[in-house]
Amino acid sequence: MGSSLTTGQVKGMNPARPVKHIPIMPVATPAQYRAMLDAAQKGGYAYPAINVTSLPTINGALKAFADAKSDGIIQVSTGGGEFASGTSVKDMALGAIVLAEATHRLAERYNVLVALHTDHCHPNKVEKFLKPLLAATAERRAAGRGNLFNSHMFDGSELPLDENMKISTELLKECAELDIILEVEAGVVGGEEDGHDTSGVPADKLYTTPEDMVTVYEALNGIGRFMFAATFGNVHGSYKPGAVKLKPTILRDGQKAVTDKHGAAAEMDLVFHGGSGTPLEEIRETLGYGVIKMNIDTDTQYAFTRPIAEHMFKNYDGVLKIDGEIGDKKLYDPRGYLKKGEAGLATRLQQACDDLLSTGKSICGSI
Ligand SMILES: [Zn+2]
Repeated sequence: MGSSLTTGQVKGMNPARPVKHIPIMPVATPAQYRAMLDAAQKGGYAYPAINVTSLPTINGALKAFADAKSDGIIQVSTGGGEFASGTSVKDMALGAIVLAEATHRLAERYNVLVALHTDHCHPNKVEKFLKPLLAATAERRAAGRGNLFNSHMFDGSELPLDENMKISTELLKECAELDIILEVEAGVVGGEEDGHDTSGVPADKLYTTPEDMVTVYEALNGIGRFMFAATFGNVHGSYKPGAVKLKPTILRDGQKAVTDKHGAAAEMDLVFHGGSGTPLEEIRETLGYGVIKMNIDTDTQYAFTRPIAEHMFKNYDGVLKIDGEIGDKKLYDPRGYLKKGEAGLATRLQQACDDLLSTGKSICGSI
């Protein structure tokens, strides 16, 4: 009262002084993303690629990358997109667009680079997931804006390899025109994720052969930039120690088959799926074989839920209305426990940055 503010002037701020500088670092540009992947390949480290489904998971991921001074990858699965669009809409592309747009806005407040990616898209979901997302990026570009996503995954591993590569080739052409990187998969990741169950697949399909790796390279090289999820016994989900037999040397042998035939520059950017519960020495071993991205979902799902479970069990008679009592609004307000979930996820993701040696290696500001 009594003080007159001129238009645009904020009460309590001296208009003569510039507004406190907040660094604006949006999601990585296509050139920055390529530089991120090159830096990891050259430096022998990899980026955690964390699945997000909500604002608390996005915020937890951004906090973890920033605290670790690590660049990173934030990704959305078909099921995550469907969830984010709401239980009555159930539109996987719409939900993915909403999560990506939120990430673009929120990432501006952090000083590390994050790239946006979409996870497994099986052939029957290309039309309702990948295509609308490519169209969304095309629309943004036409309006003079940056890409919505930096990369997408097409997972044709359930198809014979030649059919898989035929579709992968077509999609890579489309992606390359938009300056988007495509991740492909050959071989099968075991287990169950996002409703896709491969637990009945014969064991030998869980390992990509060196011949398959050469076939993938020859099919895609020269069309556009791609990443390759070769499988080496990986299984989605969480297992007791010893249940999963990883053979990281499969990656070494496959890369060798490719570089022996096509030269050192043919070394591929590999992606590690189903890494939950993998011993640290096996994770580190894969970094030497060209892994530059490791997906993380199961472990961060648990890390999000664990503190929430503690909150509920410890505050049982506050989060519930028991025996005619009224509970405690402070305890059942979802913000209270979702913040704890966000913090739990962030701590686990920071550990992933340490495991993958990306901690402290952000190239933000240098490109
Ligand atoms: Zn996967």
